[in-house]
Amino acid sequence: MEGRGGVVYLVGAGPGDPGLMTARSLTLIASADAVFYDRLIPPGALDSARADAELIYVGKQPEPPADGLKTHAYVGKSAHRPGGSVPQGETNERLIEAARAGKSVVRLKGGDPFVFGRGGEEGEALRAAGVEFEVVPGVTAGVAATAYAGIPVTHRDDASAVAFVTGHEDPEKAESALDWDALARFPGTLVFYMGVKRLAENAAALIAAGRDPEQPAAAIERGTWPGQRTVGATLGTIAAAVERGGIGAPALIVVGPVAARREDLAWLERRPLHGRRVVVTRARAQASGLATTLRNLGADVVELPAIRIEPRLDAEEVRAAAAAIGVYELVCLTSPNGVHLLFEAIEAAGLDTRALAGATVAAIGPGTARALAEHGVVADVLPERFVAEALVEALAEVDVEGARVLVARAAEARDVLPDALRGRGAEVDVVALYETIREQPGAEAIEAAQAADYVTFTSSSTVANLTEALGDRFPGGARIVSIGPVTSEAVRAVDLEVDVEAERHDVDGLLAALLQDAAR
Ligand code: SAH
Repeated sequence: MEGRGGVVYLVGAGPGDPGLMTARSLTLIASADAVFYDRLIPPGALDSARADAELIYVGKQPEPPADGLKTHAYVGKSAHRPGGSVPQGETNERLIEAARAGKSVVRLKGGDPFVFGRGGEEGEALRAAGVEFEVVPGVTAGVAATAYAGIPVTHRDDASAVAFVTGHEDPEKAESALDWDALARFPGTLVFYMGVKRLAENAAALIAAGRDPEQPAAAIERGTWPGQRTVGATLGTIAAAVERGGIGAPALIVVGPVAARREDLAWLERRPLHGRRVVVTRARAQASGLATTLRNLGADVVELPAIRIEPRLDAEEVRAAAAAIGVYELVCLTSPNGVHLLFEAIEAAGLDTRALAGATVAAIGPGTARALAEHGVVADVLPERFVAEALVEALAEVDVEGARVLVARAAEARDVLPDALRGRGAEVDVVALYETIREQPGAEAIEAAQAADYVTFTSSSTVANLTEALGDRFPGGARIVSIGPVTSEAVRAVDLEVDVEAERHDVDGLLAALLQDAAR
C-alpha cells in the first residue's frame, strides 16, 4: 500500500544488501514525496524513488564518510548531500515540517529503526507534535551480519538467549549504564553494536566481571555488503585481532560459543568472487544481467554506464525498412537491442511477427537469439563464435545471390557482414536502429572503480567510451577481461593490455573466463 500524505514512515532499510530491504519499504520509497535518509542505507536504496521526490541526507556523520565506506557511498540517483552531520533536533523538525505540508515522508534508517536507530526518539517527537507516523521494521545488523558471517546468534547446543548491546554509548553520559556483571553472567550470545572504538575496554570489563576470556568472539565488518570481512578470536584476543585486521566501523562484535560456528557455517565469504570489485561497462539496460550474476557470485560490482542506447525509430530508413520488412529474404540481427527495436519499428508500421514469415533470420549470438525468441522467432542461423566474421561463415550455406537482405544493427558497427554479403551478390540494406551515445559516469562510481580488481569489456564501443570517459582515472591495477578478439583489439588500440579473453564470445563466456582467472 502506498504512503499517505501527512504521515511519516520510520522505515528500516536493512543492513546493506539491497535484497534485504522489505517489500513494504520499497513500496513506501517508490511513492514518497520526501525521503530523509541515513548514511548506512543499501546502495541503490533510493533508485525507486520518484524522479520529483526530495531526497535529503540527514546522517549523523558527514557524507561521504571517512571510515572506508567511502567507495560505497550512495551510487545512484543523485541526492542532496551536504558535507556535514545533521543534529537530531533538526531532523525531527524537518520531518514534522514535511508531514505538516501534507507530504508522504519516509525516514529511512539502516537496519531496524528501533534497534539503536533513534527511531524511538523520532517517534516521540512526532507524537508530541501531533504528526501521525508508522513504523516499518527492518532486518537488523545483529541478526543479518551474523547470519551472513555464518554465525547463528542462537543454537540449541550453544546459546538459548541473545542480547543486543551498545558498545558505544552517548559520549555525554558520564558513567557507563551497562551492567558488566549482568552481561558477564548473561546466559547466551552478546552482540555489540558500535563496538569497535571501545572494544579493548569493553572486552576487559567483561573479563574483569567474570566472562571467560577463552570464549570465542568475532568481529564482522560491513556485514552483508560486498566487502564483508570477519575476524575470529577469543574474548581475550579479539581487540588485538581487530586492530591487526584493520577492522573499522560499521562492525559488530559477537561474544559467545556460537562465534566459532562460522568455521563450518561461513558461506558468503566463500563465494568465488567475494571481495573482488568488478567494473561492468555496458549500457545500463544491458549491464544489469551481467551485474546481477556477478553479484550473486559475491562480486562487488561497479556499474559504469559508459554508453546509452539512443533508438532511431523515427529515422526515415528505419521506417521504410520496417514497412517493407516482408520483402527481405534474409534478416540479420547483431544485438538484443537491435532485435527489440526492430520489432518496435515493425509494430509502429502496423505489422507483426508474421511479416517475417518468409525470411531466413540470422542472429550473431545466443543473446540475440534469445531476444528473437521473446518475439516468437527462432533464429535460423546462429554461428558458433559470436563475431561478424563467424556469422558470414555461417551464412555460407544460405544462397544470397540476388536476394534482398536486411542488416539491422547499431549505427557505429563494422561493415564486415554487409560487405561480405554484397560480395556474394546480395542486395543489402543496412539500417541503424540505434546509436550508442557516450554517458559520463558519476564521480562516486569513478571513485569506486579506482580499487577495481577487474574491468570487463563486452564490446569495442565500450572500450572507447569508457577509456575516454575515465581518462587518466582508468584503474591501472585492474585486470582487463575482454569478451572476444574484436574487443581485445580495441583494448590494445588504446594502449591497454588484455589480461583475460573469453573463449566463448558472449556474456556467459566472459563470466567463465573471469571466474577461472579469479580462481588462480
Ligand atoms: N539500526 C541499525 C543499527 C544502527 S547503530 C540496525 O538495526 O542494524 C550502527 C551500528 O550498527 C554500527 O556501528 C554497527 O555496529 C552496526 N551495523 C550496522 N550495519 C552494519 C553492518 N552492515 N555490518 C556490521 N555492523 C553493522
